[in-house]
Amino acid sequence: MENTVKSFRSVAVLQGTARRRSFIGSLVKALGLGSLSGAASGAAPAPVHRWDEMTASDLTAALERKSLVYVPIGTLEFHGVHLPLATDAIHTQEFCLAAAARTGGVVLPPSHWSPHGHEKWPGSMLIREETFRALMTDVYTRLAEQEIRWVVACAGHWPARLEPILREIAASVMERFPKTRILVLGPWCHPVDTSVDHGGKKETALMLALRPGLVHMERLDKPEAFRGVGKDAVEGTARFGKDFFEAEVKRFVELLGKAMQES
Ligand SMILES: [Zn+2]
Repeated sequence: MENTVKSFRSVAVLQGTARRRSFIGSLVKALGLGSLSGAASGAAPAPVHRWDEMTASDLTAALERKSLVYVPIGTLEFHGVHLPLATDAIHTQEFCLAAAARTGGVVLPPSHWSPHGHEKWPGSMLIREETFRALMTDVYTRLAEQEIRWVVACAGHWPARLEPILREIAASVMERFPKTRILVLGPWCHPVDTSVDHGGKKETALMLALRPGLVHMERLDKPEAFRGVGKDAVEGTARFGKDFFEAEVKRFVELLGKAMQES
């Protein structure tokens, strides 16, 4: 008897849980929070924009919804005593993911391979420009072969140096594959401040906003700590980084919309 009561109680508890789950499910649906529904049921949410985490069929479906692929380009480069070596890759990948959340489309994993920069500094792993050209030509070509309508290259590392190279490569690939438009539009498109720094206030703030666990502000405690990076690094805050990031993504989405219309 006791056992029967217990099982009735268990059934009632289970029914209550099921009702709560279905209520949460409808709420999540009503609020348009589809990606959270997996989390509510205990399953991992399906990746929405990350090429590397999707299955092939999810990727095909995402590209059918929007034929747009972001190509984030970073580097492994000395970024001071306080920032991770992949600062540029982390920034540009997060940037592309935030943009894709607004525009649709898919984001490739960030490339950590770039030429030019702090070559001889600890932790830097830079490649030859010809290797970079060959790599990006292959990436663009593979995307064009799949008839992706829009490819957006985002250089988080030294855009002034890399963007003209990327545009040149894009032009030669588009000549062979006219159905694909390759746009070179990077992060660092804040509406009022488009300047790039190296390990200074902006990059420090961006990392404090995006990956606070990887930043070591306490190591900026003596003058020699600022070798190779901006002296204003100490002024970086997570608040500033978050606002800067949001402003650059917002501006980028506007610029991208315009560029897509014009090309
Ligand atoms: Zn950087």
